[in-house]
Amino acid sequence: MISSSKLSVLNKGRKSRTYGILQVRFLFFLKTYMRFDILTIFPNLFDSFLHETLIAKALKKKLISIHIHDIRSQTTDKHHTVDDRPYGGGPGMILKVEPIVRMLRRIPKKKRRRIVLLSPQGKFFTQRIAARYAKLDQLVLIAGRYEGFDERVSRYVDEELSIGQYVLSGGEVPAMAVTETVSRLIPKVIGNAEATQDESFSGSLTYIEYPQFTRPPVFNGKRVPPVLLAGNHEKIAAWRKAHARRRKRLSGT
Ligand code: SAM
Repeated sequence: MISSSKLSVLNKGRKSRTYGILQVRFLFFLKTYMRFDILTIFPNLFDSFLHETLIAKALKKKLISIHIHDIRSQTTDKHHTVDDRPYGGGPGMILKVEPIVRMLRRIPKKKRRRIVLLSPQGKFFTQRIAARYAKLDQLVLIAGRYEGFDERVSRYVDEELSIGQYVLSGGEVPAMAVTETVSRLIPKVIGNAEATQDESFSGSLTYIEYPQFTRPPVFNGKRVPPVLLAGNHEKIAAWRKAHARRRKRLSGT
């Protein structure tokens, strides 16, 4: 980010009132980029996620910023212990509360912020929740491991979120899923804004996008619907609307 002091150096000598207003607007724009903070004990898992495709481009254009925080850095013992055995016995290890809370306290706070604990027990992440998050200034995601978190971590979060009814080994993949879904909805992250307006789940959670085709027009005897090749945009729009409505979810739920 360009700091406001650097900007005022860049703008030295230009003092017209109009320019002042533009400058304020420009500064406002710079301040509205969305910040993601991800807490994890496996920060290296994010290496290629941050350096490829859409996320890499959004970072480069400064439309978002992503900060990966190693929870282990907040331990105080010589073995850097982040987990411990569950009270009352049972299998596996539990992530300790202190390093997570210490890490949360070190993260700079933007105005509209949500802290989210990633957990199979949370409410389901949906496109609607993603659209709500895309309006925030900051989203903090806490990724668990092992048997999950000490229950007292939940006192420090705004909500618990699950990406589906299955159990992964860690919250890093859910954190990437949430970060990418939300980033796509931030203005200018996707070159063609229309692409996110007509997608599955965009209007309502039951909306599924119409079938799509590309070349060749015939494959193994299977033809692309002729209406899509004829170039009549009204008819194409009507066909798509009808087929989006008709299309059924492929999942068994
Ligand atoms: N013992 C926990 C249970 O039965 O609910 C499962 C813990 S899981 C192996 C370890 C971590 O992976 C969780 O703390 C969470 O951060 C993450 N995780 C696994 N599945 C997830 C899901 N469906 N949605 C969000 N996070 C998930």
